[in-house]
Amino acid sequence: MATVSTPGGTATADVLPLTDGFHLVVDALKLNDVEVIYGVVGIPVTDLARVAQASGIRYIGFRHESDAGHAAAAAGFLTKRPGICLTVSAPGFLNGLVALADATTNCFPMVQISGSSERHIVDLKQGDYEELDQLAAATPFTKAAYRVDRVEDIGRGVARAIRSAVSGRPGGVYLDIPAAVLGQVVDASAGAASLWRVVDPAPRQLPSPGAVDRAIELLAAAERPLVVLGKGAAYARADEQIREFIDTTGLPFLPMSMAKGLLPDDHPQSAAAARSLALRRADVVMLVGARLNWLLGHGEAPQWNPDARFIQVDIEPTEMDSNRPVAAPLVGDVGSVMKALVERTKPGQIAVAAPWHQELAARSAQNVAKMSQRLNADPHPMGFYGALRAVRDVLHQHPHAYVVNEGANSLDFARNVIDMQLPRHRLDSGTWGVMGIGMGYAIAAAVESGAPVVAVEGDSAFGFSAMELETICRYRLPVVVIVLNNGGVYRGDGINTASADPSPTTLMLHAHHDRLIEAFGGKGYHAATPAELTTALTDALASGGPALIDCVIDPTAGTESGHLTNLNPQGVTATDTAAGAPPKR
Ligand code: ADP
Repeated sequence: MATVSTPGGTATADVLPLTDGFHLVVDALKLNDVEVIYGVVGIPVTDLARVAQASGIRYIGFRHESDAGHAAAAAGFLTKRPGICLTVSAPGFLNGLVALADATTNCFPMVQISGSSERHIVDLKQGDYEELDQLAAATPFTKAAYRVDRVEDIGRGVARAIRSAVSGRPGGVYLDIPAAVLGQVVDASAGAASLWRVVDPAPRQLPSPGAVDRAIELLAAAERPLVVLGKGAAYARADEQIREFIDTTGLPFLPMSMAKGLLPDDHPQSAAAARSLALRRADVVMLVGARLNWLLGHGEAPQWNPDARFIQVDIEPTEMDSNRPVAAPLVGDVGSVMKALVERTKPGQIAVAAPWHQELAARSAQNVAKMSQRLNADPHPMGFYGALRAVRDVLHQHPHAYVVNEGANSLDFARNVIDMQLPRHRLDSGTWGVMGIGMGYAIAAAVESGAPVVAVEGDSAFGFSAMELETICRYRLPVVVIVLNNGGVYRGDGINTASADPSPTTLMLHAHHDRLIEAFGGKGYHAATPAELTTALTDALASGGPALIDCVIDPTAGTESGHLTNLNPQGVTATDTAAGAPPKR
């Protein structure tokens, strides 16, 4: 008698070809155009990664699941297809969950596929290896969560996960596959027949003509209209339609940080440099793929004109009225809505009065002048502005480079200083303000685009994912990490009057992060002046390989929580307490 075939192998005359759960998961992903899996292997998914590689899917192995998950989330944002993250059971699964929840919060499509332990042992809490009811744990943090309990349901599970991740408002989806299902062997032809390709996973959603006309009338009647572009607009890949609408109407626009580059930052209608004035004065605001959440002060005074009326373009109907009343809801996908707006606006119907443009232009010119003073001040030791001016100027020579950005002050300053020319080229901490996205996002940007990536990191934020430098070097990715090193969380001059230990915000002041990457064969640079930074970044980008530039920043530069100081609860002050708690600074 002939021997039984290995999964996916050929059969001899009298034995049916067989397959198993590992192969069926990979086949289902391939059938649905998945090209890359980001993950960390271990029991029970190691063979899944091997089978994926053998099938031609690229597997990128990380050092921590959180970073793999952030990479998958970023891949989802960049490609408009679900990014796939692979994790092991219980602890590995939980490590990935932060990224999955963050993807859901950011509206990025992502699927975390996790192996899990024996169901019957887990359910009776008998104490299995890495025992956890993962489906229950994932459910509150995801857009949808599923478990595949039978090998014949793998195709259905993958199809459900993919459609759930990308349809409507995108988000994070969890797919639980127990070890027993992965190892289950079935007849190969029956297995193949159980898989399918999802048809039109993210169908267009057209707005109703009445809703479009209502919005146009509101814009036409406005004295001081403003369009706010959010990362949902960037994700929608409706670049042409957005450009046409902005160009034909002449409306001023404000990009949220990850929408920068949808229209170039130096576009004449950009109100970015007059942001505060634009929000405070606008009387009709059209939000395009942007939520009126904390990042926009919930649309409330004093940041906003209390009488402003809102138009909101969003694929998610329940987003409307979440903070302020929405006078003209436009439910649909950004591309379809913008196209309908262009088609239904009569020539000259929306005309922006010259005084509004002039007011914004005058404030922009003032603010640009103030900013250029700061950028050119050149203090010693180097401050954030001097360093970022150098980064900005080098990046002007590399408009195709992706920019990843996290930190407190590093995020706030870099967002304003580094301008973007191309859409979806800036990735940052996003809606949750998460620290730790840096290396995962950078790796995904490099893997998905093949273009150079510059990650501008605060030294504290960088620490969360620093070990992925090894991943960057192992895959020889064109990632340059710039650590803005002021030796602390927020800043590096914290003095602890309460204990002999370093203060809670203190990090190693003279740390040489450049030596970390040298341990893995990457190129390390140390820069103490803008000129040294310019040379280092130019050289690193020219080399095309992994590099890290440690930038010595004045430890007194930066403020606690960056621009979010107001979010720190103010309890009793130092002098109110009997013991006299240490002053903040
Ligand atoms: P930002 O932080 O840049 O202001 P948000 O993440 O708050 O942006 O908002 C993104 C919004 O975009 C979400 O409300 C989401 O539902 C919406 N969105 C995502 N994709 C699309 C799409 N294709 N068409 C319309 N809206 C979309």
